[in-house]
Amino acid sequence: MKVTLLAGGTGGAKLAHGFAMLDGVGLTVIVNVGDDAEMHGLHVSPDIDALLYTLIGLLDEERGWGIRGDTHSAHTMFDRLGAPTWFTLGDADLATNVERTRRLRAGERLTDATAGMASALGISARILPATDDRYRTRLQTDEGLLDFQEYFVHRRQQPEVRSVRFDGVETARPTPEVLDAIGESDLVVIGPSNPFVSIGSTLELAGVREAMMATNAVKVAVSPIIGGRALKGPADRMLASMGHEPSAVGVARLYSGLIGRFVLDETDTSLAPAIEALGMAADIRPTVMGSDTDRMALAAALIETRDMLTR
Ligand code: GDP
Repeated sequence: MKVTLLAGGTGGAKLAHGFAMLDGVGLTVIVNVGDDAEMHGLHVSPDIDALLYTLIGLLDEERGWGIRGDTHSAHTMFDRLGAPTWFTLGDADLATNVERTRRLRAGERLTDATAGMASALGISARILPATDDRYRTRLQTDEGLLDFQEYFVHRRQQPEVRSVRFDGVETARPTPEVLDAIGESDLVVIGPSNPFVSIGSTLELAGVREAMMATNAVKVAVSPIIGGRALKGPADRMLASMGHEPSAVGVARLYSGLIGRFVLDETDTSLAPAIEALGMAADIRPTVMGSDTDRMALAAALIETRDMLTR
C-alpha cells in the first residue's frame, strides 16, 4: 500500500517510524522545511534530520533532536572561536549538515541530497522535503518578528506567538515528487505534528491543498494534542495564543475540508461528537508512541482503516 505522511520532526517522525517498520508499506514522508536555517555557514534542516535519525534508531529521544551519544568537540571549539553557539550541533550531527551543504553546493536539489543521504543510511522510505525552494517560517510574537529557530531554540519558545507566516510563500513551489506522492497514494496521513509550523508550512505551498482535495486516497489526520496538551513543544500554547481551541478539536478544525477522518487519543473520547460535527469521522485510538510497538500499532491501525473503507 502506498502511504504518504506529512510530518515534522517529532510526532510525525515517530509515526513515520511506525509505518517504516510495517511490511508491505511503500512510505513517502513529506517533511517540513520551514524550520531550515543557516548555521556555521551550513544548510541545517532540523526536521529532515530528526526524521533520518528516528528512522535509523539514532535520535536522541530525550532531547528530541540530534544523535544519541554524540560528542561536542566542534561545539566547544566554535565557542572558543567566538562563533554563535546557541544552536547546538553535535559532532556527528555536524557531519550530516556538512554533507547536505556539500551536495547542495555541488548543485543537487535538496530533494536529491536528502534521498542520497537517506539511501546511504539504509533508509528505504522516501523522504521528500516539501519544497526545494527557499522557504522560511517566521513568527509574529509579542517580542517582534522572529525566525523559527530564533524563537524555538534561542528564546526557548517563551515569546507568545500571534501569527505565523512563511517567507517565500509567493514563489516557493512544492516539488513534483510531493504533488505526485499525494496524488498517487492509497492513504495520506497528516501526522501528529505542530499544525502551524510543521504541517501548515507544507499545506500553504501553492498546489498542496489542491492536491489533497484531488487525490483519491483515504485522508486521515492524527492529533498531536492529547488531553489539551502537546506532548512536546509549543503546539498547545500556539493554538491558544493564535485564537484556536487548544485541543484535538482545535486541530481538527484547521484541517476541516481536507481530510475525511481524524484520529484522537483515547483520553479524548468525549471530543468525538465535536470532531464529527466538523464533517469528519472520529477514530479513537491510543496515540502516544512511546515504544516501537506503539508506533507500529498506530500505523497498522491507520492501514486497517483504509483497508476497511475500500473493501
Ligand atoms: P517538531 O518539528 O519537533 O516541532 O515536531 P512535530 O511538529 O512533528 O511534532 C510536535 C508535536 O508532536 C507536538 O505537538 C506533540 O504533542 C506531538 N507528539 C509528540 N509525540 C507524540 C506522540 O507520541 N503521539 C502524538 N499523538 N503526538 C505526539
